[in-house]
Amino acid sequence: MTKPAVRPSYPEVGGHPAFDLVDTVHWRLDEDRAIDTLASFEDVVAWCVQLGVLGRDPEGLDRAAHQVPGSAEAELQAVIALREAIYEAVFESSTPAVDLIAREHVAALGRSTLHRDAGAPTWSWRVPSDLSGPRAAIAFAAHDLLTSDLGSARQCGDDACGWVYLDTSPRHNRVWCTAAGCGNRNRVARHQAKKKH
Ligand SMILES: [Zn+2]
Repeated sequence: MTKPAVRPSYPEVGGHPAFDLVDTVHWRLDEDRAIDTLASFEDVVAWCVQLGVLGRDPEGLDRAAHQVPGSAEAELQAVIALREAIYEAVFESSTPAVDLIAREHVAALGRSTLHRDAGAPTWSWRVPSDLSGPRAAIAFAAHDLLTSDLGSARQCGDDACGWVYLDTSPRHNRVWCTAAGCGNRNRVARHQAKKKH
C-alpha cells in the first residue's frame, strides 16, 4: 500500500502551537468517538513541519525513525504525554502535568544550542537534529504557553469536540473552535430541538 503523497492537514485553531498540538485529538470529550491523529512518529514530524516548530529542515528524521523504530515509538509516546500534560496543566491545573512540562523543558534546553542565522537580529534555540528534536520543540512551545497569559484559554463549547484555543476575539466571546464546524452544527441542532417543542 502506498502512502498518500499529501497528508491531511492538522487543525490550526488554537492560536498557539501548544494548543494546536492538543487539538490533534478529535472529539476529546467523548471516549467512544475520540480520534488521536498522531498515530506514529512520522505523524509527529508532519505536524512539526506543518506548524513550523522545528526551526530547521527535518530531513532524515523519517529515515532515522525507520532505522531505530523503538526510539521513534518512545519519542511518539513522550510527545503524547507532553500533549496530555499541556491539556491537564491548563484546564485541570494538574501539578504532575506542570512538573512534566518543566522537566521536558529543562531537558530540551540541555539538548539544544543557541543559534543565529546570518543577518538575524537575535539568537534562538535550535533543537537537536536527532529523533528527540520534535519533543524538544514541543517542550519549548509548552513552556512558552504556560508562561504566557492564560486568561483567554478556552475549550470549544461543543459537548464532544474538546478542541482548545486562545480566545483573541475583540469581545472575548468566542464559544466554538470554528464557526463553520462546531458553531454551525450546534446552531442547527438547537434550531431542530426548538422545532420539536
Ligand atoms: Zn469544536
